[in-house]
Amino acid sequence: MNDLLVMKFGGTSMGSAERIRVAAEICAAEQRRRPVAAVVSAMSKITDLLLETMRRAESGDREGVEQDIRRLRQRHEQACLELLPADRQAAVLEGIQNLIAAFERITGGIALLGEWPPRSVDEALSIGERLSALLMAAYLESQGVRAEAVNAAELIVTDAVFGNATPLMEPTSEKARARLLPLLAAGVLPVVTGFNGATADGRPTTLGRGGSDFSASILAAVLDAAELWIWTDVDGIMTADPRLVPDASILEEVTYSEAAELAYNGAKVLHPRTLAPLIEKQIPVWSKNSFALDKPGTKIVPRLQVSSGARAVTSMANVALISIEPASAGLHGAQVMGRALDGLGRADVELLALSSSSYRQSFCLLVRAQELPAALMALGESLELELAHGYLKPLEVDDNVGLLAVVGEGMRGTPGLAGRIFTAISREKVNIIAIAQGSNELTIAIVVHRDGLEKAVRAVHAECHMTEQAHPHPGD
Ligand code: ADP
Ligand code: ASP
Ligand code: MG
Repeated sequence: MNDLLVMKFGGTSMGSAERIRVAAEICAAEQRRRPVAAVVSAMSKITDLLLETMRRAESGDREGVEQDIRRLRQRHEQACLELLPADRQAAVLEGIQNLIAAFERITGGIALLGEWPPRSVDEALSIGERLSALLMAAYLESQGVRAEAVNAAELIVTDAVFGNATPLMEPTSEKARARLLPLLAAGVLPVVTGFNGATADGRPTTLGRGGSDFSASILAAVLDAAELWIWTDVDGIMTADPRLVPDASILEEVTYSEAAELAYNGAKVLHPRTLAPLIEKQIPVWSKNSFALDKPGTKIVPRLQVSSGARAVTSMANVALISIEPASAGLHGAQVMGRALDGLGRADVELLALSSSSYRQSFCLLVRAQELPAALMALGESLELELAHGYLKPLEVDDNVGLLAVVGEGMRGTPGLAGRIFTAISREKVNIIAIAQGSNELTIAIVVHRDGLEKAVRAVHAECHMTEQAHPHPGD
């Protein structure tokens, strides 16, 4: 559908009756011009609450579970009462009640078993998005906009990696088009749940925390949308996380590659996998602030007219560095590295950065802290012989580190930039532990001690004049 606009509203943009009203008004206004499909996150903090409730159920904390479920019910019922006229409330309150009852059945099962089967967890987590989609669709209807809440488990077909599933694009395309195109053609605005999907045989899955951005891009791709707008709580993609760098500036345009690098290196404003489905079809994406409708936001485009230097800096605190070092000179470095990477790949551990020093073929790998146990187990297995016979030194782990990444297409061929970045970090007396730069020179990844991470981010932001670079023509 070549004039379709897909819009995704994040947790804060769906966080209260007032925010849902604004989101619905944005949808209604755009729908006067062209077909619109909405993708919604759960109300802010609801996914965390669902997870906490399941944890409490697992540990047998019945009172805690009841208290959490009361909070869940109260938040949604209150939003319903504030949003809807009296004659529409009963049906929606019943819908809320049914979804919360389904969640209670799952937590009851978890309490009984004392464990969380991954499939039930994903089914339970999707209830946050199903509740917010229900509210948004009901409000749109109350305003005379024909709308229907749609559970993405009916649309997005995924593999069976519960908690971090990957979409299978062909069956997703078939299902999503069959379900959504008739609605759109009839002038109905689908309000689709973000974050969730289901395997081909119908088992519920989720796409990873923050995954509603990804849901929206999957749907935009399979529906051949004209544009995707991602509504959030900041003015767009900025030169740094404004929570760390108060003078961070908004970037008017970034390329798909820059945005993907920022997202993969910790810029929460976009889920890392969001851009992949869109690149082939070159569907333009906007990141916009639902709290400041007058701000233009950031446009994500295939390429920039002019691009200079380092444009943005991002960071990740919850990471761990694993060092692998040969004890014997006879060891074949490439083979050791090959087996190590193969093990990590099979264990589905994401490699954030890799750095090696050629002389002794020692190398280090950066992974997410939460994936460290799986990474160590995988490396232990795939390098078992070398470790057992002492050809490799025992694996060393430093989990007191953070990753800083400097991103910009224009860094290519800018001599001296890396030197300036390293000097700026050392001036803050922050020790650099490892460095990795791909030959495309799009990103310089730097591992530093955790307690110096925020200082280093601010130092790099200032040294590269990112605020000024983002506004090359003051007053424009
Ligand atoms: P949503 O709930 O709308 O998906 P998120 O909380 O996932 O929103 O992402 C928005 C947050 O991302 C912002 O509040 C901001 O603190 C953070 N962020 C991190 N890095 C950046 C960046 N480079 N530009 C903009 N925001 C960033
Ligand atoms: N609600 C989910 C989360 O909090 C997905 C999302 O908001 O994108 O992770
Ligand atoms: Mg998000």
